[in-house]
Amino acid sequence: MNLNALNEIVTNSPEILEQSARENKADESVVMGIALFAIGNGYDALSSNQKYHFDNSIRHLIENVQCSGYTHECEEYQQECTNILDDDNLVEYYQEQYGYCESCQGQADADAHSKATFMGD
Ligand SMILES: [Zn+2]
Repeated sequence: MNLNALNEIVTNSPEILEQSARENKADESVVMGIALFAIGNGYDALSSNQKYHFDNSIRHLIENVQCSGYTHECEEYQQECTNILDDDNLVEYYQEQYGYCESCQGQADADAHSKATFMGD
C-alpha cells in the first residue's frame, strides 16, 4: 500500500477516486474523506467501517496496481498487460496519468525512438 500515491490521486486526480467510489456504490465524499484521513493518520487509525470502504474503493488503486498496457498507435486493440506495478513507482504512475510497467515502458520508448528516427529521414 502506497499512501504517497493516494496523496497524489487525491491532490491531482481525485476523479480516479470518485469513479472508484461510484463503482463500489459508495458515497464519493465519504471515500474522499477516508482517503484524506488515511493519508494523515495511517490505515490503522481508520475505524472498521472506514477500513471496509478503504478496502473496497481505495486499496486497489495503491496496491498491486496492474499496468494499463502499452498499445502501439497502429494497433487497433488495447494490449492487455498483467504486470503488477512496483509500489515504489505508483506516485510517478499517477503523476504521468497512467504510466506503464518497465516492460511496456521499454516498448513505448523503443517505438517512440524508431518513430523519431523514421521522421528524421
Ligand atoms: Zn505493462
